[in-house]
Amino acid sequence: MHAVRTDSGVAPLVEAFVSVQGEGCLIGRPTFFVRTAGCPLRCTYCDTTESYRAPRTFGLRALDGETLRTFENPCHVDEFVSAIDAMPDLLRSVEWVSLTGGEPTLWTDFALGLATRMRSRGLRMHLETASDDVGRLRPLLPVFDSVAMDYKLEGTLDRAPNDLQSQHVACLDAALRADLRVHVKVVLTDAVVDRVWHTMLDRLRSFGRDFVLILQPVTPTPNEQRRLPTVRLLAMLKSALDAGFDARVLPQIHPLLGFA
Ligand code: SF4
Repeated sequence: MHAVRTDSGVAPLVEAFVSVQGEGCLIGRPTFFVRTAGCPLRCTYCDTTESYRAPRTFGLRALDGETLRTFENPCHVDEFVSAIDAMPDLLRSVEWVSLTGGEPTLWTDFALGLATRMRSRGLRMHLETASDDVGRLRPLLPVFDSVAMDYKLEGTLDRAPNDLQSQHVACLDAALRADLRVHVKVVLTDAVVDRVWHTMLDRLRSFGRDFVLILQPVTPTPNEQRRLPTVRLLAMLKSALDAGFDARVLPQIHPLLGFA
């Protein structure tokens, strides 16, 4: 499926499920994930390749993995939220909703509708984005509480626009101005050379400690096996700390624990 934008409140979804946040600053928290289809990028380490094309139908799953309902694609946000409202037990122990992908900013109206309604029900909204287009991101910022933004490095991309890193910087600037809780995730493989790492630090340095910089060693996939040696990971962490960043090393935990 091509990444077609819509203003009609519908989006193609891959899945919706309750699980545990497996990465980033909200790691370990019970979370309701809503995964949209479609992504304009191709990262070497992508672990959601199934999101490139929308399935004909998708399921809504509870924490125990039971599929509670199946929807046709594309799905209208009104239908989706009404279904959730009809299952009061589904989100009883959940504080956060994570809109993820694919690239969820492709579906502006769906994202706005979902976030607004989930927040009105007392839930907090987290956006996971490749931060590849500040024009798509900006309208969503007022209805989210937290955003996990990617900074994708040369060596980890099979397909990306030429100005991707400039978009990353513009997205970070916009999110911080909107006063969101922000973390920037950088997936590291052994294909990332030191020059590329230090260029990224130079570009982000002016934002100081207003955001958390997460160094995420790659979780190997069939397409990406170039693990970053520990000695290089620690050297990268040291350079980030020496440059004044609020930097942390955090792997993905859901593959380790077998969570969805
Ligand atoms: S931006 Fe995300 S969904 Fe898209 S290719 Fe990269 S890792 Fe996969």
